[in-house]
Amino acid sequence: MSISRPRFSPDELPSLVEQLLERLGEDPRREGLVETPERVAASLLHLTEGYDLDAAAAIGDALFTQTYDEMVLVRDVPFYSLCEHHLLPFFGVCHVAYMPRGRVVGLSKIPRLVDVYAHRLQLQERLTRDIAEGLERVVEPDGVAVVIEARHLCLEMRGVEKAGGETVTSCMLGVFRDDARTRAEFLELIRARP
Ligand code: ZN
Repeated sequence: MSISRPRFSPDELPSLVEQLLERLGEDPRREGLVETPERVAASLLHLTEGYDLDAAAAIGDALFTQTYDEMVLVRDVPFYSLCEHHLLPFFGVCHVAYMPRGRVVGLSKIPRLVDVYAHRLQLQERLTRDIAEGLERVVEPDGVAVVIEARHLCLEMRGVEKAGGETVTSCMLGVFRDDARTRAEFLELIRARP
């Protein structure tokens, strides 16, 4: 389901950013900041454009009838998201696998699907599940597996965690949850590095 954003006047967001700059003790009229409210507003709208989309929109008509019934894995899909607690970036890679049941999805749509859910205010745990359930809903495969490895700037910049600490989350649905061999094959494939 896509979530419709409330309508607001186009000027509203930049003026809120301007107020924020003032509250932080800055002078929004100084040269370096004059265009910052517009830029921040545009960047925030881009980084949250996933609210206006869903898995069906990401995949579109790129679903193809296929008898291929082995695992499909798209590994190391880069993503960037914003944590909902601090509005600071968390980013890393996402591994997405599914076990087709009569239909396959165009491979280029997997990164698009990841972006739809990453471009919202997120928690890594929920992002992982959103991607898995979105793919399951649209493709109706025998199973879906998603693993995300990410760094959280809200932890690193605030000194809560040493730089480079990675958080790993996973969501296994269908055969990936029920069949230990399928799950093990997936985990082995995402660990394998050339
Ligand atoms: Zn955070």
